[in-house]
Amino acid sequence: DNIMRQNINEVINKVLPMIQADAYNNNKEVNVDLNLVPDILVNENEIKQLILNLVRNGLEATAEQGCVTISTYLKEDKVVLEIKDQGKGIPQEVQAKIGTPFFTTKDSGTGLGLAISIGIAQRHGAGFEFKTGSSGTIFYTAFPS
Ligand code: ADP
Ligand code: MG
Repeated sequence: DNIMRQNINEVINKVLPMIQADAYNNNKEVNVDLNLVPDILVNENEIKQLILNLVRNGLEATAEQGCVTISTYLKEDKVVLEIKDQGKGIPQEVQAKIGTPFFTTKDSGTGLGLAISIGIAQRHGAGFEFKTGSSGTIFYTAFPS
């Protein structure tokens, strides 16, 4: 239900004002690097939710004056959505629990953002991966084109 062929860049542009406001209020920035990619089959509301979850985590991990970058590009036959932060990375013991519902390290976290995002990626037949290190974390969602 609600699946339509759409450009991921358009979905990003629709949630961007909300995300930019979030960032601005916390003295942080969200930048975009949107490249030409083919349309893909998406449930728009779900993809908006995935973007919000990942960008909010990125902003929460990033210190003031830092930025989160949303990029899109075509890699082989996949449309990749990349969300990169300037945080300190995800500790190993936390990495092992990524996607476990209600696991959070935050005082007022729900621990649901990543679990929900992984479900959304799965329903889109998309790969979901991250790379993390001391200069930040990148979450990749790779959609079939
Ligand atoms: P919540 O944000 O409510 O804690 P999430 O499911 O979004 O729940 O994230 C679970 C946990 O994963 C977070 O509490 C945090 O410890 C870790 N995490 C998620 N994204 C990042 C990130 N970009 N950088 C560092 N840690 C992260
Ligand atoms: Mg979260």
